[in-house]
Amino acid sequence: MTAVAPNQPPSPLARPVTALHGVGPERAAQLARLDIRTIEDLLLHRPRRYEDRRHLLPIAQLQLGEPVTTRGAVVALGVKWYKKHTKSIFELILDDGSARLHCRWWNLPFMEKYFAVGNQVIVFGKAVGLKPRTMDHPETEVTEEGEEQIIHFNRLTPIYPLTDGLPQRWLRSLIWRTLTQLEGQISEPWPETVGLEVAGCKLQVQTDQAVTRESGVGNIQPATCNLQPGTLLPTRAQAIRMLHFPDALPDTKLAVRRLALDEFIELQQRIQLRRRHFETKARALPCGGDNHLIKPFLAGLGFKLTEAQTKVLRELRRDLSGTHPMRRLLQGDVGSGKTVVAACCALMALESGYHVALMAPTEVLAEQHFGTFTNWLAPLGIAVELQTGSRKTSEVQSLKSKVQSRKGVVQGQKTDFGIQHPEASIQQRPTLTIGTHALIEAGFAPERLGLVIIDEQHKFGVAQREQLLRKGHYPHLLVMTATPIPRTLGLTLYGELDVSVIDELPPGRGRIQTFVRLADKLPQVWAFIRGKLAEGRQAYVVYPRVEESGPNGIKAVTKEYDNLQQTLAPFGVGLVHGRLRPKETEEVMAAFRAGKVQALLATSLIEVGVDVPNATIMLIENAEMFGLAQLHQLRGRIGRGTHDSYCILVAAAKSREARTRLRVLEETTDGFRIAEADLRLRGPGELLGQQQSGLPRFRFGDLAADFDLIQHARQLAARLPSA
Ligand code: ADP
Ligand code: MG
Repeated sequence: MTAVAPNQPPSPLARPVTALHGVGPERAAQLARLDIRTIEDLLLHRPRRYEDRRHLLPIAQLQLGEPVTTRGAVVALGVKWYKKHTKSIFELILDDGSARLHCRWWNLPFMEKYFAVGNQVIVFGKAVGLKPRTMDHPETEVTEEGEEQIIHFNRLTPIYPLTDGLPQRWLRSLIWRTLTQLEGQISEPWPETVGLEVAGCKLQVQTDQAVTRESGVGNIQPATCNLQPGTLLPTRAQAIRMLHFPDALPDTKLAVRRLALDEFIELQQRIQLRRRHFETKARALPCGGDNHLIKPFLAGLGFKLTEAQTKVLRELRRDLSGTHPMRRLLQGDVGSGKTVVAACCALMALESGYHVALMAPTEVLAEQHFGTFTNWLAPLGIAVELQTGSRKTSEVQSLKSKVQSRKGVVQGQKTDFGIQHPEASIQQRPTLTIGTHALIEAGFAPERLGLVIIDEQHKFGVAQREQLLRKGHYPHLLVMTATPIPRTLGLTLYGELDVSVIDELPPGRGRIQTFVRLADKLPQVWAFIRGKLAEGRQAYVVYPRVEESGPNGIKAVTKEYDNLQQTLAPFGVGLVHGRLRPKETEEVMAAFRAGKVQALLATSLIEVGVDVPNATIMLIENAEMFGLAQLHQLRGRIGRGTHDSYCILVAAAKSREARTRLRVLEETTDGFRIAEADLRLRGPGELLGQQQSGLPRFRFGDLAADFDLIQHARQLAARLPSA
């Protein structure tokens, strides 16, 4: 973290580690492998655990299977080779006067050189046998004569993550010395917040005040370490000392909370600065519209908007006619009807004479939107174009607009913002261009881009979003996502966006029932599905792989295709996956939409957006291979019509853990609960997919658990003076 306020001399903590006594190039290289480059990095190197070396257990008192710290003198050691000198066991025998302990390591013969008879060794591990007392692969530390006992002993001792060649004791001593020398230089990164109370919590205590003891202030229980009203957080300097050399274990939790808060404040401050910067720089294009298109559109739609949809539309209209360009995230669970809201939003911009771009993550979805929007908007006289990797309906159009925009620059008809005034441009029919990320490429260059809409935003990276925005001059932005974002992520990832939520499903939807089944129940499942197909419904069948089936019965969709054509005959079976040519995929999708194909075999390609109301069955094989949020999305493909729907999750693995995880889906259709469970179980990377970069690495913050801290940080950052 570089929590240095502006206009201050650089902190000594920002110096490279090589400035420290005893750190040469070799050690510096080792530290760099742990991401430790500056002195501050070193001070923030988080112990992975602590050993209570105030109470070392006599070897005689070891219990089977209990992790303990003990200590003894080396009485014997040696390597035994076997299997023709290809395998080895290194054994070390310790004696502490109460009993002997055998420590064994397999295939690490070089360990022999780290020990000598007579060495005092501290050992952390679990006894795997008591006759003789034995530990396998314990962690060890050789203690040296005359060493600073105070650093390594008679205390809660930090155990750090290491890298090859970096000794635990060397690193611990270095951190101790550095801390002793520089503790006074660790300043409060946000002095304005000292003593501030947020939600009843005081954020700093005086340095001379006693910090927590085991039963002291705040009484932090390791498991439920939330900031209760009245909690006092340590200063940053105290927190760093407590992190490394705590007096009591709860202190470490408190230290981590404090340091996490700093991380979150820094992030929130950056988000808020970016937002403020944007607001001072960018003036909004007037895209509020005049209703002349929306009115007939809504009248011909065939259904009435829900209250939630109407409420969101009001928010969107306010943004589009405001002074700053809209930056809004529209969240709504699968099937809540975001597309029609996007259409209304597009119409407002189109009514105002601006172009609109809508980007979707897959060709399947872009094609579907192209169909839907053409049906909706063509009768209103709006041009709808498609631009994907494999299909482009707008060649002429985009060429023309490129020529025009070049002309505009040459003629010098520019505003303060470097664009032409709407009046100054050659009138061109407002167009909605729908596409995949192909829109980001050079060919797409609309002249008066008023609004960018991104569907299934979580499938794109922040960079792609920005690239598309740069096609215009601060156009309005609406991003939509059905993957409910846990609140913590919402505030961090999308911190600079305003949020609208559609929190109600359109009326008249059938129920969705979800079942988790083991693979041995498949015959009954297929019989059930045949029954539903006979009633006229349609089914999705999803597999995790395309071609190669994997270990543990992981199935591939192309392999199952042949079997299922027989199992399901005479019903028509279609197949889509990412390795088909887009044209083939589109043909199959069209046949499925038209009801000519009854069962659609697919990979998770169909996860986003696909809307076929007559499909009421979702069978997912090897469901244990998918994340919960992803399964929830897949399940969102059904339950879109009036008939009851059935989602069947078939788990191949007998793993109880996998089944417990899947049960979450049986119990709830609340996307937010599912997303939070997913975040807890699999972490933010998995939940957001590889695409979603842009999130800093937190050493202390925990996105799955720290909602309270993130909220505090957000409020605190808002009170900080803007840099
Ligand atoms: P999502 O929010 O998952 O993108 P869609 O926009 O695909 O959902 O909408 C799902 C289905 O619900 C579509 O067939 C859409 O036409 C329909 N729909 C949307 N809004 C309403 C409404 N207010 N009343 C009835 N049906 C609606
Ligand atoms: Mg959608």
